[in-house]
Amino acid sequence: MMDKTKHLMDTFIPYGRQDINQADIDAVLSVLHSDWLTQGPMIERFEHAVANYCGADYAVAVSNATAALHIACLALELSQDDIVWTSPNSYVASANCARYCGAKVDFVDIDLNTYNMSVAALRLKLEHANKNNTLPTVVIPVHFAGQSCEMNEIKKLADQYGFKIIADAAHAIGASYYDQKVGACVNADMTVFSFHPVKVMTTAEGGMVLTNNKSLADKLLRLRTHGVTRNPDLLQNKAEGPWYYEQHELGFNYRMTDLQAALGVSQLARLDGFIASRHQLAEVYDDALKDLPLSLPLQQDDSYSALHLYPVLLRESADISRLELFNAMRAANIGVNVHYIPIYRQPYYQQFNYRVDDFPNMEKYYATTLTLPLYPTLTMDEQAYIIETLRSLLQ
Ligand SMILES: *Cc1c(COP(=O)(O)O)cnc(C)c1O
Repeated sequence: MMDKTKHLMDTFIPYGRQDINQADIDAVLSVLHSDWLTQGPMIERFEHAVANYCGADYAVAVSNATAALHIACLALELSQDDIVWTSPNSYVASANCARYCGAKVDFVDIDLNTYNMSVAALRLKLEHANKNNTLPTVVIPVHFAGQSCEMNEIKKLADQYGFKIIADAAHAIGASYYDQKVGACVNADMTVFSFHPVKVMTTAEGGMVLTNNKSLADKLLRLRTHGVTRNPDLLQNKAEGPWYYEQHELGFNYRMTDLQAALGVSQLARLDGFIASRHQLAEVYDDALKDLPLSLPLQQDDSYSALHLYPVLLRESADISRLELFNAMRAANIGVNVHYIPIYRQPYYQQFNYRVDDFPNMEKYYATTLTLPLYPTLTMDEQAYIIETLRSLLQ
């Protein structure tokens, strides 16, 4: 072990963490000193800033990305009569949102180059579903690790088979695909971001839905606040006075606070810098790990990843198991992790009788993957320590 990195063994290095500076802190403090802690002016400012950044017409900020996925599903009027397909290589939220609406969930196997939903597997599954009358109403592709799915291809299939697309871009704010920002909703009806602290930028808890469809945006706004509207154009009855509001459907309190939105505005200004730092660190890993028995994450030519995660796959030629490697790295205080346990393997989802044989790529991926720490404030010394530790275990 390198001498200068010895001290690092005493402090835990997580796989991801936030980067908060004085400007972020000042932004939150100024809201605390203001009249509005929630439902004030910062929410719209944050929504406009993100919509503008991504090139989308509308953005609706909510309490977290799970809530964002939920109201996105509700805005598409999903019910128990519907089927939703998503990627098994995701956090459970990508599937749970459909279950909240009573819809059936199924999964599409992943591609072993990008670890995203495989377009070939999607096409094949659609052909079968078309014959059996089990086509999905909605497909939720997940931009895993911050790299966009092949949305041009998925959109073509959506037009052919008539399903809607909710892009789960919880990992991918700031990423782009063919010169369009993820979130521009060129090939998706709606796109969802997460601002959880381990993600690319943070509002502590927080999420957002983007869309170019005005009626979806109006619906999302209502669903965020109890299904209630004060908009005079939308009222069904004559306003009885200035206090008047109407509830039109069963919505939720999924509001973001102004404290969070202020943090979001401040973080958004730093987003491109965060992602540039992630790319620099990833290049160091790419170079330092290329001779080890690991498959390193590929960057597609047509896209720029937000690099939320840096997953490596342990090759068969390694003479250590993934579990042994995981435990040895954790023993060295390095917070490696596994993203993700296939959703269909969760006990809750096992009641629906998925067959692991239907997802050979996901199974292969899950058996060997390990996420290395990657975040803007990871220091060169810390990264050198992570690399040295990995090399010593794998050589
Ligand atoms: C984190 C995450 C979510 C949920 O985000 P929250 O803001 O924590 O609700 C959804 N989908 C994916 C792919 C995620 O990684």
